[in-house]
Amino acid sequence: MSEQERCPEIRNEIRKFCSQYGDEYWRKLDKENRYPEQFVEELTHAGWLAALIPEQYGGSGLTVTEASVILEEINRSGGNAAACHAQMYIMGALLRHGSAEQKQRYLPRIASGEIRLQAFGVTEPDAGSDTTHIRTTAKRDGDYYIVNGGKIFTSRVQHSDMLLLLARTTPYDQSPKRTLGMSIFLVDLREAGDAVEVRPIDAMINHETNQLFFHELKVPVENLIGEEGSGFYYILDGMNAERILVASEAIGDARWFIKRAVQYGNEREIFGRPITKNQGIQFPLAQAYAQTEAADLMRFRAADLFDAGAACGAEANMAKLLCSQASWAAANAAIDTHGGYGFAAEYDVERKFRESRLFSIAPISNNMVLNFIAEHVLGMPRSY
Ligand SMILES: Cc1cc2nc3c(=O)[nH]c(=O)nc-3n(C[C@H](O)[C@H](O)[C@H](O)COP(=O)(O)OP(=O)(O)OC[C@H]3O[C@@H](n4cnc5c(N)ncnc54)[C@H](O)[C@@H]3O)c2cc1C
Repeated sequence: MSEQERCPEIRNEIRKFCSQYGDEYWRKLDKENRYPEQFVEELTHAGWLAALIPEQYGGSGLTVTEASVILEEINRSGGNAAACHAQMYIMGALLRHGSAEQKQRYLPRIASGEIRLQAFGVTEPDAGSDTTHIRTTAKRDGDYYIVNGGKIFTSRVQHSDMLLLLARTTPYDQSPKRTLGMSIFLVDLREAGDAVEVRPIDAMINHETNQLFFHELKVPVENLIGEEGSGFYYILDGMNAERILVASEAIGDARWFIKRAVQYGNEREIFGRPITKNQGIQFPLAQAYAQTEAADLMRFRAADLFDAGAACGAEANMAKLLCSQASWAAANAAIDTHGGYGFAAEYDVERKFRESRLFSIAPISNNMVLNFIAEHVLGMPRSY
């Protein structure tokens, strides 16, 4: 069986589901800069976003391989899983490091859709990729932590009930190590009131991403996840799953671009013959296809290792790098194949082109992935 055909039952189900949300649905939302509320709500109620929540907490207890196929198929249908992917993996921090009481309290309600855990606040304006330099602080005061500071590019906040927040509980210069002294909290956005100020960011894509400001936000002590000071490691723990899932969305995009471009190119006749008779059109698509299939092997390699409980940091990072490059190659080939129509919104290529560009920047930029491979896989000195 080819890698492309893995998990055929899940693929069929998601294809059926997504066929209700055609090009026009996503195009209209993009134009109006609106969130795909109905799509996300129905996907949640169908149980797909609880794929990684164990059955004992009301989820379906699927593997990361299976979850990755769900997200791939959403993007492959022409949609954008970024509107809801975080619900799949953010809860991993709670699952792995939360107390039995926290898991019992939140996971079943996340699985049922009663609580939306879609938002994840790590990136800050001044720290950027250098997470250890975050400035948001959480200071213990009796039964609460008092949070001050701010985050940037915190996506889906306006469509989430809770936010997983990384904050410094010990100042950088007083921490025994730069990676210590940070903690993660579940912030209930429904109770935050004016203490969380949300400023939407006008962005290149329809992503509902925001700048956040925390003004004396009170977070109950029982919302601290795991041990105080170890939050950075809890975030790192979840990154392999996140990389694999995002890589799979990039594969979905790449397959969408290639399919659309081949269809369009075979039908478009210029100089009395289909434009796909020209190698200048064929070769970039053939190249992108080869890149996509190769990148997909790395995505499944990483997912298989993850599901077997084996170390997969190198493979998850390489999957994210290669899949984002494959989707970008396919995006460019699709634009070239469509000529001027690649820029016309009604063909959807320009929308997907903008959306696919994000994979090389977020959730981690490809430069940081290369830094990881250079240092941790190849044993070269850290360059920064
Ligand atoms: C649409 C969107 C949604 C997002 N959603 C979220 C979210 O929900 N939650 C969240 O926490 N964050 C989110 N992010 C933030 C995203 O994770 C960051 O943008 C990303 O990690 C890069 O950080 P930065 O933008 O500060 O870039 P910077 O850190 O300023 O980097 C800028 C450039 O410099 C390069 N660079 C920096 N240092 C080095 C180095 N040592 N070696 C080589 N190159 C280097 C980077 O690779 C990058 O190309 C989102 C971003 C976008 C655009």
